[in-house]
Amino acid sequence: MSLPKIWLSSPHMGTQEQVFVQSAFDTNWIAPLGPHVDGFEADLCAFTGAKHAAALSSGTAALHLGLILLDVKAGDLVLCQSMTFSASANPIVYQGATPVFIDSEPDTWNMDPIALETAIKDCIAKGKKPKAIIPVHLYGMPAKMNEILHIARTYEIPVLEDAAEALGSTYHGIPCGTLGDLGVLSFNGNKIITTSSGGALIGNDAATIQQARFLSTQARDQAPHYQHSHIGYNYRMSNVLAGIGRGQMVVLPERVAQRRSNYERYLAVLGNITGIQFVPEPDGFYSNRWLTTILVDPALTGGITRETIRLKLEEHNIESRPLWKPMHLQPVFADCPFYGDGTAARLFEQGLCLPSGSNLVDADFSRIFEVLTQILSS
Ligand SMILES: *Cc1c(COP(=O)(O)O)cnc(C)c1O
Repeated sequence: MSLPKIWLSSPHMGTQEQVFVQSAFDTNWIAPLGPHVDGFEADLCAFTGAKHAAALSSGTAALHLGLILLDVKAGDLVLCQSMTFSASANPIVYQGATPVFIDSEPDTWNMDPIALETAIKDCIAKGKKPKAIIPVHLYGMPAKMNEILHIARTYEIPVLEDAAEALGSTYHGIPCGTLGDLGVLSFNGNKIITTSSGGALIGNDAATIQQARFLSTQARDQAPHYQHSHIGYNYRMSNVLAGIGRGQMVVLPERVAQRRSNYERYLAVLGNITGIQFVPEPDGFYSNRWLTTILVDPALTGGITRETIRLKLEEHNIESRPLWKPMHLQPVFADCPFYGDGTAARLFEQGLCLPSGSNLVDADFSRIFEVLTQILSS
């Protein structure tokens, strides 16, 4: 009989989610938009400090609307962090634009400002200034935003900040998602909080976020009949799911503390093993530690690779996963330009995401550490 599965990152409900959902049922506010959507947006603003938020059906939808609101059109170029989940880049293609992928730097694993500036200069020299920059805060670790924002301002290119993994992270005290012109959040099932599926676009400009709400509800003009002067989308969050979101916001600070404590636990056990490297927080960087990640250097571990570890964990019914495979190495993006020195590719070769749910218990960690210490101390 095998032991129950330990997941990489599974949903973790608090006590208030069902109360909010029940009230949606009690008032028959299953649809349309309703008080939970308004309440969830207000909660997101209060937590992040953003002035406005539009609750949407997914983080991908938020990225897509963000690009539309930044006027990205067919034939445009958009600079995007290469090492990320494909949803950071796909909406660029939805718009008929071309992603220009930027390598990672080794400190935070996020967009390398030097490669970013090289790419911008090169695009401009070739006659086309990029329309937007999409940095990502991978696994919760903030990107080097001072450098990225400085470059963005120098060349006057707006920043669409993919904070899908970084709700609860801060950069020099400022919440991730509010550093760029627009910020994207995700409440997908594996994220630090979840509405089962969902996302949000946040920002400080009322008109822009209002336009996101308008486009996300089929772009219906003010008229008694159905009248349209824009192409619309069905991207709004439902009132039932927003109820789950309001419940999750109650426990968000606790979830951040739990994920950060996972990181500390792994660090305490594996931190001194030769060939295993963690990602420390640079000064002023505060990560929600959505996932705890390590690099495994086989030259220093006696040939043990991240795959050795992943497969051994899998044998024990424990889920772990390689880092995101960089977009410039994906078959679907093979023809897109890339700027960098190979850092993201190396991270992908050596990187592993360890089980990081906020609902892991001591017995789970005992199982995980038994496997890890057995491989790494042999
Ligand atoms: C999860 C994620 C998204 C997409 O969010 P969905 O809500 O799943 O559409 C976008 N970018 C990154 C970096 C993500 O991790």
